[in-house]
Amino acid sequence: MSMELFYELNYRQLVQWLAARGERRYRADQVFQWVYHRGVTDFTQMTNVPSPLRQALAAQFTLTWPRIMKSTGQPTTKHLLEYPDGVRVECVSIPMDSYYTFCLSSQVGCAMGCRFCASAQGGLQRNLTAGEIVGQALAVQRLIGRPRNLVFMGMGEPLANLDNVVTAIKRLTDTHILGLSPRHITVSTAGLVPGIYRLADMDLRVELAVSLNAVTDSQRRELMPGAARWSIAQLLAACRYFTQKTEGQPVTFEYVLMAGINDSLEEADRLARLVGDLRHHVNLIPFNPVNHADFRRPTPKHVEQFCTQLRHQGINASVRYSKGTEVAAACGQLRVDVDS
Ligand code: SAH
Repeated sequence: MSMELFYELNYRQLVQWLAARGERRYRADQVFQWVYHRGVTDFTQMTNVPSPLRQALAAQFTLTWPRIMKSTGQPTTKHLLEYPDGVRVECVSIPMDSYYTFCLSSQVGCAMGCRFCASAQGGLQRNLTAGEIVGQALAVQRLIGRPRNLVFMGMGEPLANLDNVVTAIKRLTDTHILGLSPRHITVSTAGLVPGIYRLADMDLRVELAVSLNAVTDSQRRELMPGAARWSIAQLLAACRYFTQKTEGQPVTFEYVLMAGINDSLEEADRLARLVGDLRHHVNLIPFNPVNHADFRRPTPKHVEQFCTQLRHQGINASVRYSKGTEVAAACGQLRVDVDS
């Protein structure tokens, strides 16, 4: 019989599995307590669970986490994680004032092909399953502590793996599991329009971030060839639908500033016109240098000017200087070095 990853199960499914073996519901609470609150990865350690049941669980399920191969950087830390089949992803823990944000990967590699992003180099290897995404949070939690916020801004395009990402979000927000607030979970997309509509219709109450990065369709096609299958107008229509379905929840627009590419003040004006009449927040991300990418970061002074130009037009804009630059843990730099 093939083994199943325990983290794929929700509470109801475990209750059913137990009921089929004549076991009562409170056993599910006991097992979940061990797994999600005590971080036990071995059924034999569940001392209040009868031994035959422990054996039955161990015969069917594995509790394997991805192995943390390496953690670099302080206080923002990049963790290199390896799954049992040998694939590797990265996850970043970012300390905020009084809590942690984890930046999770949704895929191994990425198929989007964004020119400025390190995760795009090498293409897509495979999707992560829901249980593997949950395992990523658990493994880093064991090392660092409990997260409050999760952002799907690591490797991969979450809306290209939507079913698994949504199942993972349901697990992570389930009070029997991690009990995180959906409001503290952000799904960041390169702009897969059908996925935005699907996410809006699911009523999950998570935050949406959209990597816009360009103000014309031709510029967006150059920079984000995979995502620019849809026009900016179609993308913004999907964002508007999302804000309507979520009763006015703003959409965060991420805009990677690249010197001489998309950072002129005229481009700031265009950006303001594009997003101004939506419930929005604009997050400006000064480009983080990655290998093989022929782009440059604008000067801090110019970044400020671009931001001010937006604000003068009523745009709610801020600059995100990635805390992880010094450890290459910053946005778009998540790529597993084959030699590491
Ligand atoms: N595929 C998703 C999530 C991963 S990328 C998405 O595109 O949103 C997370 C963020 O990092 C995106 O906003 C992306 O535009 C940004 N990013 C990618 N490469 C970058 C780089 N080299 N410097 C700064 N930000 C980058």
